[in-house]
Amino acid sequence: MQCEICGNDIKGSPVRVTVEGTVLDVCGKCARYGRPADKWSPVSRKMAPVERVIVTRRPRRDVFDKLQDEIVPDYARIIKQARESHGLTVEELASRIMEKSALIRKIEREELVPEDTVRKKLETELNIKLTEKISMHDQRGGGFIRETTLGDVAIIRKKSK
Ligand SMILES: [Zn+2]
Repeated sequence: MQCEICGNDIKGSPVRVTVEGTVLDVCGKCARYGRPADKWSPVSRKMAPVERVIVTRRPRRDVFDKLQDEIVPDYARIIKQARESHGLTVEELASRIMEKSALIRKIEREELVPEDTVRKKLETELNIKLTEKISMHDQRGGGFIRETTLGDVAIIRKKSK
């Protein structure tokens, strides 16, 4: 009797195992490659379907997901400061993003939370970030980014002749 995996002679009785659905008579060393199958028909030993459903998704997580991309609480201040630092009036900013100046005023007075489309236009126009990703790993919030990019470019151009 030879082991069907390694081909060595089996001393004593072979071990019957299933390897990927095939029943093999193997030596003691190779038995670990398969699962025990001490009956002729592997079908009869078919394992019951795993019905365990691991529920890891808690309702709290759904709320958590929705909080991602939430607008920052001080959006009004950020917009106003960014607009002023760009030297824009409310009217100028409004016309740049093709919205009514009344809308911008309301947003800056925190009377209105900008909807996504308006928010994105403001972010692009003013180079600001008005949402914060609430993440366990990322503690960095929004704020001003790339504020002085244009100025920096101008200085570099002047210096290099
Ligand atoms: Zn073997």
